[in-house]
Amino acid sequence: MPRIDALLSAGPTTSFEFFPPKTDKGETALRTTLNELEPLSPSFVSITYGAGGSTRERTHRLVVDLLTRTSMTPMAHLTAVNHRRAELQELLGRYLDAGVENILALRGDPPRDAEEVLFDLERAWQLVELAREVGGDAFSVGVAAHPAGHPLAPDLATDRKHLAAKLAVADFGVTQFFFEVEEYTRLVDDLAGLDCHTPVLPGIMPITNIRQIQRFAELSGTEVPPALADRFLALGDDEEAVRSLGVELATELCQQLLDADAPGLHFYTLNRSTATREIHANLGL
Ligand code: FAD
Repeated sequence: MPRIDALLSAGPTTSFEFFPPKTDKGETALRTTLNELEPLSPSFVSITYGAGGSTRERTHRLVVDLLTRTSMTPMAHLTAVNHRRAELQELLGRYLDAGVENILALRGDPPRDAEEVLFDLERAWQLVELAREVGGDAFSVGVAAHPAGHPLAPDLATDRKHLAAKLAVADFGVTQFFFEVEEYTRLVDDLAGLDCHTPVLPGIMPITNIRQIQRFAELSGTEVPPALADRFLALGDDEEAVRSLGVELATELCQQLLDADAPGLHFYTLNRSTATREIHANLGL
C-alpha cells in the first residue's frame, strides 16, 4: 500500500476526506460518492474518527474496507482524547495487522457536554510517538495544522512553535479549511522561519451551503471572511447559484495553492462528490 510520505515526494497529491456514516442511508450515499470519486484516482482518501472512540469500529471497518475492496489508498484518523494509552496502542496494532500504513494523529476535542475528560496523551505529538513505538517505520504519520492558529493556543506565535515541533516528528501535515491563499502561504512561511520544511497539505472546503460552513468554521475556531460570506448570502436561497460560486472560488483557491507550490490538495467532501468532481475537472487534474 502506498505511503503518503512517498506519494508526497513523487509530486502533488490529491486526496479526499470522508466521515463514517451513522445510518444505512448514509452508508449507501457514501458508497455512491466513493464509486463516483474512485475514477479520479486520488492519491489517498481519509476517514475521520469520532473523538473518544464514538466511531472507533466504523472508522476501522471503513478504512479496511477501502484498502481491501477498492483501488484507493486509505488514511485512518485517530484521536487521543478519552482513550487510554493501551487502547490507542491496540487500535494502532490492529491497523498495522490489517496493512493500513497511513495514520493522521490528532488530539481530538472532548465532547462539549462531557463532564469528565480523559487524556492519557494530552497532545497530538505524543500520539505520533506512540504510532512510531507501535509500528516503527511502518506508519506514515500525518498531523493537523491550523492556519489561523489553534483556538486553545495563547497566541499565533506559540501555536506555530508547537506545530513546528509536532511536524518535526511527523511525516506531513494537513490543514484545517481556509478560504484565502495568504492564510496558507503565511503558515508555510512561518514554519520555514522555524526551520520546519515538512510538507503541509492545504485543506479545501468548497462552500455549497454558507450557513453550514460558517457553523463548521466557528466550531473549529476560525471564520469565513465576512466579505466572502456576504457574496454567498447575497444569493439567498438560490442553491444552484451558491454551489456554482462555491465551485468557482474553490477552483481559484486550488489553482493559487498549486501556483504557490503546495504539495497537493486535500478536499473535505462532506461525503458528497459533485463539487469535488467539478473542481477536479476545472483544474484539469
Ligand atoms: P495538538 O497538536 O495536540 O494541539 C492542541 C493544542 O495544544 C494547540 O493549542 C497547541 O498549540 C497546543 N500544544 C501543542 N503542543 C504543545 C506543547 N508542547 N505545550 C503546550 N501546548 C501545546 N477531530 C476529530 O475528533 N476527529 C478527526 O478525525 C479529526 N480530523 C481532523 C483533520 C484535520 C486535517 C484537522 C485540521 C483537524 C481534525 N480534527 C479532528 C480536529 C482536531 O482534533 C482539533 O482541531 C483539536 O482541537 C486539535 O487537534 P491537534 O491534533 O491539532 O492537537
